Amino acid sequence: MQLHNFNSGPAILPKEVLDQAAAAIHDFNNTGLSILEIGHRTSWFVDVVEEAKATVKRLMNIGEDYEVLFLQGGATMQFMQVPMNLLDENGMAAICDNGVWGNKAVSAAKLFGPVTVVADSSDKKHTYIKKDLELPAGTRYLHITTNNTVEGTQWHQYPQVNVPLIGDMSSDVFCRPTEFKKFDLIYAGAQKNMGAAGVTMVVVKKSLLGKVNRKIPAILDYLKHIEAGSLLNTPPVFSIYVSLLTLRWIEKEGGLVEMEKRNQEKANLLYTTIDAHPAFYCPIEKEDRSIMNAVFFLTDPTKEAAFLALCKQHGMIGVKGYRTVGGIRVSMYNALPLSSVQAFCDLMNDFS
Ligand SMILES: *Cc1c(COP(=O)(O)O)cnc(C)c1O
Repeated sequence: MQLHNFNSGPAILPKEVLDQAAAAIHDFNNTGLSILEIGHRTSWFVDVVEEAKATVKRLMNIGEDYEVLFLQGGATMQFMQVPMNLLDENGMAAICDNGVWGNKAVSAAKLFGPVTVVADSSDKKHTYIKKDLELPAGTRYLHITTNNTVEGTQWHQYPQVNVPLIGDMSSDVFCRPTEFKKFDLIYAGAQKNMGAAGVTMVVVKKSLLGKVNRKIPAILDYLKHIEAGSLLNTPPVFSIYVSLLTLRWIEKEGGLVEMEKRNQEKANLLYTTIDAHPAFYCPIEKEDRSIMNAVFFLTDPTKEAAFLALCKQHGMIGVKGYRTVGGIRVSMYNALPLSSVQAFCDLMNDFS
């Protein structure tokens, strides 16, 4: 049976990326060695890191004032590494809490300095994005989650602010051309839209750093990682390589313009189908719906188990909603083909 992989993360990767990664496990670039067996300071691997950084910069269309890092600890570590490097008792972090991940960013930042939650969409169960933000005096930076993976909302137009903007782009980086330059720091765990688990990309403006009144352990200090070229200690060599293969694939397929075209087509098809059938409903404000993760429900919740069983029977993987949200979640990252969304919509039509 053909499987359709709608996993929210770790998630689907392009078949050719998997083939290339598998080949490199046996023989990396005709070295006769596995990618798992080479030193991270060899020119072979330094070339991998440099090409990955350069590709990120090309895709984001950002200049020399930005640095690209490949770190460990997941996006979850960025929830604390960002405030550790940027916030102290003299400043204020403004954070948008639009769901599970933004909420965790708030809790972690509070350990390092004052925090103001400038938007909280829990009044409507996080089914929308609150966009009129009032930043308190002394705001050091504004943190947003560009795509709320669990709740199914996405910022389609970033807030216009006069403080540094920080974006958790874990689940929508490289899904479309976007104003990356509006951000002073972007981070993304690789396992959703750009590779395998184990590496987190951080893109940061160097001018933002070195200003807090605190000693920072070297391993958590962005400046130390920049000085060391992402090779402060042993990095996740294989995960970085899989990200490079995925970044190459994005460019080869036509870059972010092409990714957006495909992602928009998939999302349009799915949301149109949901809206067409009274058996299903999507509670998310239309203008805030995510093109990466669609969250929706069965109008009659007693039918949900039957629908999920039907999905399983037809090879639809990973469509059960997040444990605290319930319902259905269909993740449509870059590598997911339109044919999988079509197959899912056919199933919805039949069920309906
Ligand atoms: C998945 C996710 C995270 C958590 O990522 P980890 O790599 O598990 O730490 C954080 N933010 C967003 C938006 C996510 O989608």
